[in-house]
Amino acid sequence: MRKMTASFSHRPEGYECPFCRVWGIERPHQGTKQRDIIYQNEKVTAFIASKWWPNNKGHVLVVPNQHFENIFELPADYAVEIHRAAQLTAFAMKSTFRCDGISTRQHNEPAGNQDVCHYHLHVYPRYVIVE
Ligand SMILES: [Zn+2]
Repeated sequence: MRKMTASFSHRPEGYECPFCRVWGIERPHQGTKQRDIIYQNEKVTAFIASKWWPNNKGHVLVVPNQHFENIFELPADYAVEIHRAAQLTAFAMKSTFRCDGISTRQHNEPAGNQDVCHYHLHVYPRYVIVE
């Protein structure tokens, strides 16, 4: 088995991480405000996404508070907290939006459609479409 020691970073030099700014109030990311934060503990933050999939209202991002670029860098104790926050978000979505289902997505590296070089898990409500 190949030893996995390679870096899978695609962060450009001088990259200013937009997610590291979300909880640094001065320059919030793409319109994300402190009031958009729905859950936060010492390891993770969950906030209403202000940019992606505008047709899916209530879409939430769960991110580690410390900067880790992708799944390859993410320590297991952060992964646990991220999924715990995603589960709390899912319960909140069910009771608030009365959605029919919940989806999560997580992208890594440019070929995996990762658009922000800070690990993030998407959580969004899904609805049965009645035609
Ligand atoms: Zn960051």
